[in-house]
Amino acid sequence: MQVSNINETVKLKNGVEMPYLGLGVYKAQDGEEVINSVSHALSSGYRLIDTASFYDNEEGVGEAIRNSGVPRDEIFVTTKIWIDDQERGSVRKAFETSLDKLGLEYIDLYLIHWPVPGKYLEVWKVLQTLYKEGKVKAIGVSNCLVHHLESFKELGGIQPMLVQNEFHPKLVQQELLDYCELNNIQYQAWSPLMRGRILDNQLLKGLASRYGKTPAQVVLRWALQKGVAIIPKSVHKERIVENSEIFDFQLSADEVKAIDTLNDDTRTGAHPDNFMEHFRKKA
Ligand code: NDP
Repeated sequence: MQVSNINETVKLKNGVEMPYLGLGVYKAQDGEEVINSVSHALSSGYRLIDTASFYDNEEGVGEAIRNSGVPRDEIFVTTKIWIDDQERGSVRKAFETSLDKLGLEYIDLYLIHWPVPGKYLEVWKVLQTLYKEGKVKAIGVSNCLVHHLESFKELGGIQPMLVQNEFHPKLVQQELLDYCELNNIQYQAWSPLMRGRILDNQLLKGLASRYGKTPAQVVLRWALQKGVAIIPKSVHKERIVENSEIFDFQLSADEVKAIDTLNDDTRTGAHPDNFMEHFRKKA
């Protein structure tokens, strides 16, 4: 796929346009750190910011957006409903809290952060209502596998417009990508840089020197060429800029395939089928 500039958007199945590139802010501290990151991103041309109630930085994200001078309708804001609120059934309240903290009148994309077993289909019904009320422009899910996506189909009604999953050269999940393409669900990568752990790979370094780019830029370009939207995170201005300078080169089809072969199903985060255990252990 040819994505040739930072303003390029993908049309979600409901017609909403979403930028292919966004800034992730997981682990960017609320206050100065996240405010600076979002401000740098917006002044470098980013137009999508990915946060979550769990990141505890929605206030800073909102402040940076409101002070950016960029019109609200030119910025795409994603936030997510956390596990606890799904368990408590306090979805609408959690949504209102996010909106309040962000200081915004609507959210562009609201996601189920992790599909809590026995709860997430009920949660999805509330997201559908929020969507119908116009409080969110699009709704989707995160950390879902094909069986989750099939269960939304069985439920009927509005279907997820996007899936945000862990995705990088070591976790390609081509069958899931194909499923999403077939069902017109946009795929968006979290940890597209594998949290920095893939950047010393020899193949990526070789391609980087061939194109006069960095391994990070090669990885992000590879994702785009596979039709996957990306939300790399950085709190450093130079890296925020570096991660956006990926629209002036094109990997060959063979190079894309070569990067695909790095896949060995390594995850940096939890598995969508046993994340409750993972987060309970952390708590
Ligand atoms: P990323 O793959 O984006 O990697 C971020 C790490 O890489 C940071 O340590 C950053 O450091 C470093 N980095 C960034 N750019 C470069 C570069 N050019 N060269 C070298 N190092 C670099 O991981 P994330 O886990 O943050 O994922 C991205 C976003 O996805 C998150 O911020 C969040 O918005 C979302 N996410 C969603 C999840 C979900 O469950 N839905 C789960 C996890 C993430 P530094 O900041 O110091 O520059």
